[in-house]
Amino acid sequence: MSKKPIFIYDTTLRDGSQGEGVSFSLNDKLQIALRLAETGIDFIEGGYPLSNEKDEAFFKQIREHDLGGSQICAFGMTRRRSMKAQDDPGMKALVAAKSPGITVVGKTWDFHATEVLGVSLEENLAMIGESVEFLAENAHVIYDAEHFFDGFRANPEYAIKTLRAAAAGGAKVMALCDTNGGSLPEQIAAITTKAMEGLQDYPGVSFGIHCHNDGELAVANSLAAVDVGVTQVQGTINGIGERCGNADLISVIGNLGLKKEGYSVLGGEGLSHLTELSRFVYETANLQWRNGQAFVGQSAFAHKGGMHVHAINKASKTYEHIDPSLVGNERRILVSELSGRSNIIAVADKHSIQDDKEVQSKILAEVVRLENQGFQFENAGGSFDLLIKRVVGSFTPHFSPLKYRVVAGETSADERDVYSEAILKIRIGDQDVFNAAEGHGPVNALDTALREVLLPFYPQLRDMHLVDYKVRVVDNGAGTAAGTRVNIESGDKEETWGTIGVSDNIIEASFQALLDSVEYKLHKDNVTPAT
Ligand SMILES: [Zn+2]
Repeated sequence: MSKKPIFIYDTTLRDGSQGEGVSFSLNDKLQIALRLAETGIDFIEGGYPLSNEKDEAFFKQIREHDLGGSQICAFGMTRRRSMKAQDDPGMKALVAAKSPGITVVGKTWDFHATEVLGVSLEENLAMIGESVEFLAENAHVIYDAEHFFDGFRANPEYAIKTLRAAAAGGAKVMALCDTNGGSLPEQIAAITTKAMEGLQDYPGVSFGIHCHNDGELAVANSLAAVDVGVTQVQGTINGIGERCGNADLISVIGNLGLKKEGYSVLGGEGLSHLTELSRFVYETANLQWRNGQAFVGQSAFAHKGGMHVHAINKASKTYEHIDPSLVGNERRILVSELSGRSNIIAVADKHSIQDDKEVQSKILAEVVRLENQGFQFENAGGSFDLLIKRVVGSFTPHFSPLKYRVVAGETSADERDVYSEAILKIRIGDQDVFNAAEGHGPVNALDTALREVLLPFYPQLRDMHLVDYKVRVVDNGAGTAAGTRVNIESGDKEETWGTIGVSDNIIEASFQALLDSVEYKLHKDNVTPAT
C-alpha cells in the first residue's frame, strides 16, 4: 500500500523567533533555511516581509539559493479594514517577497473580529476573501485560521464561514491554528473533522494544523489532526516559540516517519539528519540543548546500570523504542561504579577491547580507583575515553603543562573591580611556551591562556567552545577533607563532550577538566601532535 505524504511546514524563522531569548540575524536565518531545505522540509516560512529590513533582505537573498523541493513562504496578515487589498502595504510587501508560497493569517473568532480588530463580522469575511484572492494571483496561498479551535467553540457557524471565505478566494490549504495551545487531542480531531465537512464543496482545498504547546500536547494534537485527514503539519525545530513553544517538528517527523503507519514525511528521506538539524538550530539560536529531548537529545538513548546495559548489548530492542541511527542519534552507555564490567565493555566498544579481559580489568580498576577519589564518569565521556586510551597505551599527549599560576582579587580596594589573571607555561613538541591572560574569573583566565598558547599549533581548537561548567563539593568517603568536582561540557559543530577534574583545589580541578577537554578534541579530530 502506498504511503500518504504529510507535508512539513516549518515556522522556526517566524513563530520560533518569538521564543524568549531567541533572536536570529539575517545570516542565521539564511543558514537555518538552507539546513531545513537540505533535510527536505517542504515549506519554510521566512518571516514578515513588511515587518523589518532583515526579513525583506532574507526573501531577496534566499532566492539566490537552490532549495531543492522546498518552498519558501512569506507570512502576513489580511488587508487592513476599509482599504483595497492591492493598496495595502502589507499585501504589497508579501507579493514583493516573490516567494512561491504566501501564508496569510486571518481572524476566526467572532469576538476577535469585533472586539480586537473592531470590524463587523461581514467586514472580517471580506478582508479574508479579498486578501486571499489578491495573493492567490501571485503564489500558492496557505490560509492560517488564527484561534480556530477557540473560535469554533465560541461560534462554529462563523468559524466555518471564515474558512469558506478563504477557500472562495483561492487558498489551497486551510491551516487550523490552536493559537492558545490549550486544546486536547480529541477536541482537535472532532473540530478538524467539522471544518473539513464544512468545506466539502471545495475538493481542491487541503488542511493543515498549527499547534502551540501550552498543554504539552502540541505534538499529540498535530498527530490527532493527521489521523482525521490533515496533510500539512506546521511547527518549529525543537519546538521553540512563544510561551511554551510550538509543536516540535523533530518529534512530529520522528513519529510520522517511524512510528505511525501509512504516512511518509520528507519524501521518505532526511530523518537521519534530524539530530544534526536539531543541534544546529540550538547552536544558531544560542540555546542550551535539552538532553532529554525525544529522538535527538543526548540522553534519548543513554543507558546506565549494569544489568540493563548487558541487555542492551544483547538486544537493543529491549530498552530502545527505535534504532538511534534512524534519526542520526547514537546510543550512549554511562559509566558508573555500580554497573561493572558490561558497561566498560559497551563504552569501550570503539577501542576494540571486547575480548581483552586483562585490559578490561585494568580499566575497571582505574575507574574504581578514581571513583574513590570523587570522580564520576557519567557526564564525562571525554575524560573516560582518554582514560581508556591511557590504559590501552594509545594516548599521545599534544602538550604537557609545566606550571601555572592564577591570581584573583581586587585591583584596588576603592574600585572593587574583581580581577583575574592566569600565567601558564606548557611544553608543545620540543618548545616551552609561556603565556598570560586576563579573564572573567580565574577559570576563564586559565582557559583563555591555554587556548591562546595552543591555537598557533592546533588551529582546530578555534571551533571548540565551552558549553557548561559545573562545580560540586564531594565527600570522597575516605574521611579526609571534602574535595571539589568540576564538570566541563565542551562542544564543536559536531558534538559535545564532558570532562572532569577532582581536587581539593577548585582551580586545579578546573584545570584538569580543561586539559582533558582540549586533549579529547585533538584526539577525536586525529590531530598529529606538534613536534
Ligand atoms: Zn503560532
